[in-house]
Amino acid sequence: IVGAGFTGATLAERLASAGKRVLVVDKRNHIGGNAYDKMDPHGVLVHRYGPHIFHTNSKKVFDYLSRFTEWRPYYHRVRGVVEGKEVPLPFSLATLRALFSPRLADRLEEKLVSRFGYGARVPILRLREEGDPDLKFLADYVYRNVFEGYTLKQWGLRPEELSPSVTARVPVLVSHDTRYFQDTYQAMPKEGYTALFRRMLAHPNIKVLLQADWREVEGEVRFDRLIFTGPIDEFFGYLHGPLPYRSLSFRMEFRGRPWVQEVGTVNYPNEHPYTRTTEFKHLTGQDYLSHTVLCYEYPEAYEPGRNEPYYPVPREESEERYQRYLEEAKRLKGVYFAGRLGDYRYYNMDQAVARALKLFEELNDG
Ligand code: FAD
Ligand code: UDP
Repeated sequence: IVGAGFTGATLAERLASAGKRVLVVDKRNHIGGNAYDKMDPHGVLVHRYGPHIFHTNSKKVFDYLSRFTEWRPYYHRVRGVVEGKEVPLPFSLATLRALFSPRLADRLEEKLVSRFGYGARVPILRLREEGDPDLKFLADYVYRNVFEGYTLKQWGLRPEELSPSVTARVPVLVSHDTRYFQDTYQAMPKEGYTALFRRMLAHPNIKVLLQADWREVEGEVRFDRLIFTGPIDEFFGYLHGPLPYRSLSFRMEFRGRPWVQEVGTVNYPNEHPYTRTTEFKHLTGQDYLSHTVLCYEYPEAYEPGRNEPYYPVPREESEERYQRYLEEAKRLKGVYFAGRLGDYRYYNMDQAVARALKLFEELNDG
């Protein structure tokens, strides 16, 4: 198995428990993939590859991971700076109240509830199709103040140049729910992600080889089956041209006081070169510390060898190219692709685990 992230670790654990001998190879010097976390020199638990908050509607995934960790209940809250004010995101009925006069907020709330129903989740690109002048005003306001600048920064593209599923991750909420996610299960691994991964990979049938790029060790390993969770285009030597990815750089900032932010993350759609700042202590529950660390995320172009392919870019052009790689993949016997990079899909952690569990079932049947 190439890659020791959620996809590789889940497959390794499942196959090892089914009696297979598994070698996990990762080019990094640690397990956990992008979910890796570590104590910094000041004893603050930080996520090296940006903030990771666990949320899922899948009981199956939650129960599976619960074998390897206890949980700390945590509801992630995000505020966005809009017209100089910190307001709750996703944009909800609470955000209407924070930004508009009570009269206007009442009218917009009434229109949203009667058009979509209380509790609805309305993607911004969907809201923009509305004809009613009030809803049109609201859609344009939210588009301009929350989505346009952030998306240009994050992707270098406008919202409508990406698959609608991207901005639909953060829909307009026709409710007063101020949580960032509405999933049934929301929690953080009590001792962190790396501890969870250590337990997943502790099976005696699993060997882990770190600091080893697959291309370097390929010729020296004998295997019946290979599961590749790195970039599928890289595996095929960019045969059909490179798939686009978006990268980020993270700046960790130490602050000598207990707290800086009132909530886990603050988004900056309209100012600064960074998209958001996250204060890890909110996520991890280290509220006993008298100092804190913030993470700033700066989007950048992906340059192989210099930075990491953090995000596949969901849009038509890249999907067409991905399909060509998928055709290549289908022709190979005994080689399987999975994960955010192997499937070229914008998976959250729970989706990576669900995908891995499904692939395991297919492998176990076949
Ligand atoms: P990865 O974690 O990327 O693991 C792939 C591994 O393969 C890596 O360790 C890599 O080093 C290794 N690899 C690649 N190529 C090779 C090679 N040639 N040889 C050897 N090893 C190789 N999800 C959530 O659910 N909640 C969040 O809050 C959240 N926040 C995120 C924030 C950021 C900034 C990012 C980038 C992602 C976030 N995610 C979040 C998504 C989450 O990181 C992924 O869903 C998850 O890590 C995918 O797991 P994976 O195993 O498929 O891939
Ligand atoms: N988004 C935005 N403004 C925000 C939050 C999100 O425009 O304040 C858009 C943006 O395109 C972003 C996408 O919605 O990339 C998904 O946001 P999410 O918070 O899920 O991003 P992730 O945590 O995966 O980086």
